[in-house]
Amino acid sequence: MLHQLTLAEVARGLADKQFSAQELTTALLARIQQLDPQLNSFITVTEEIALAQAKAADERRAKGETGALLGAPIAHKDLFCTQGVRTSCGSKILDAFVSPYDATVVERLADAGTVSLGKLNMDEFAMGSANESSHYGPVKNPWDTSRVPGGSSGGSAAAVAARLIPAATGTDTGGSIRQPAALTNLTGIKPTYGRVSRWGMIAYASSLDQGGPLARTAEDCALMLGAMAGFDPKDSTCVDQPVDDYLAALSKPLTGLRIGLPKEYFGAGLDSRIADAVMKVVEQLKQLGAVVKEISLPNMQHAIPAYYVIAPAEASSNLSRFDGVRYGYRCEDPKDLQDLYKRSRAEGFGAEVKNRIMVGTYALSAGYYDAYYLKAQKIRRLIKNDFTNAFAEVDVILGPTTPNPAWKLGEKNNDPVAQYLEDIYTITANLAGIPGLSMPAGFVDGLPVGVQLLAPYFQEGRLLNVAHQYQLVSDWHKQAPAGF
Ligand code: GLN
Repeated sequence: MLHQLTLAEVARGLADKQFSAQELTTALLARIQQLDPQLNSFITVTEEIALAQAKAADERRAKGETGALLGAPIAHKDLFCTQGVRTSCGSKILDAFVSPYDATVVERLADAGTVSLGKLNMDEFAMGSANESSHYGPVKNPWDTSRVPGGSSGGSAAAVAARLIPAATGTDTGGSIRQPAALTNLTGIKPTYGRVSRWGMIAYASSLDQGGPLARTAEDCALMLGAMAGFDPKDSTCVDQPVDDYLAALSKPLTGLRIGLPKEYFGAGLDSRIADAVMKVVEQLKQLGAVVKEISLPNMQHAIPAYYVIAPAEASSNLSRFDGVRYGYRCEDPKDLQDLYKRSRAEGFGAEVKNRIMVGTYALSAGYYDAYYLKAQKIRRLIKNDFTNAFAEVDVILGPTTPNPAWKLGEKNNDPVAQYLEDIYTITANLAGIPGLSMPAGFVDGLPVGVQLLAPYFQEGRLLNVAHQYQLVSDWHKQAPAGF
């Protein structure tokens, strides 16, 4: 069955002429039409574009081109700008926005020959951990459609987990690639800040946002990241450093790998069944030659409060551009300019986005800047220092990705703090800018759980290596949700 193939298997099948990119694309488009109504993972399906790109990929292969992603079907989180296609960011305010250009990530993946099947659902402006704040309705978790898939890249996660596409792009500001990957049994990597261009990626919190792939295996993430990463003069925060050969990194043995287990990651709040699953992964990695030691990240407890000052502060600034004048939603019959601004924003933004804009504006206001924003930035530095100290002793840090498995739709809607706490293990990597990966680690009551790996700056190859070696001796990542 074509939809069960990983990206690496698709590459082999296309190279061996077992099927064409057009056959594969047609099969997946039919599958999306048949199954996505149960999940709501796509906001826009771009059938015509997909078929044209698939045809072009087949023609390039016929002429002798061989790239691994040539003809590979993917889809993009709907905050990557796509020329000529609606880019909604999950918001009513951009419901009618058709981008005049492609994001660098979209352009690079298209140049590599990928076929884009459409745009994926997400929390509004990537704010959330459940994919319930989307203007286009919640996304359902294919492992249990009464539960959330995680967020904010919930559409990306649900579509890949349900085998509608083999891989997708996502973004991670506080965990939005790793957390939904964990909740849907996928592998997802948030690269080092500056590794992947943010140009054309609609900004939420610019100093934290990073794009990356969600796929079923580390090998597929390596294929995707290899095409996405690299310097881009259009993004001044993108780092001019050569991209490692992530595929070559996969096969390195783990003998002598030093793994750190932060004691703070195994404390109160963690579901003990997830802790057990994580420790089983640790045992298997030891058998592969890794050595394990306990470490400490003493400032972790301050990460969520600091993040919920910094991220809303940056969001309040970034989202000021949505004023009803330049692009996006405009209210009916404004009586003057003030009314136009106020009502366009009041009617265009959803509740969580407004919440964050208000918190961020408050934290940046003259009287409170020192008490909140500046303080949060100081905590950010302490968290970065914690990682620097830890990585003097270990090569990777390992722990749970999330404290709980997927929760019921609506369950945490009235308790934003409970939802914010779901990011407790992921947010520190964004504050420090280091790369992080989540990989499948087993099941609790039939629901997937993830293990998170963190590494020093620009060590994405090491994360993919550890995950790949683990996936060679485990089969969690091969499990598919019933009915998909
Ligand atoms: N849940 C976090 C938030 O709402 C992180 C979201 C993200 O990584 N985009 O801000």
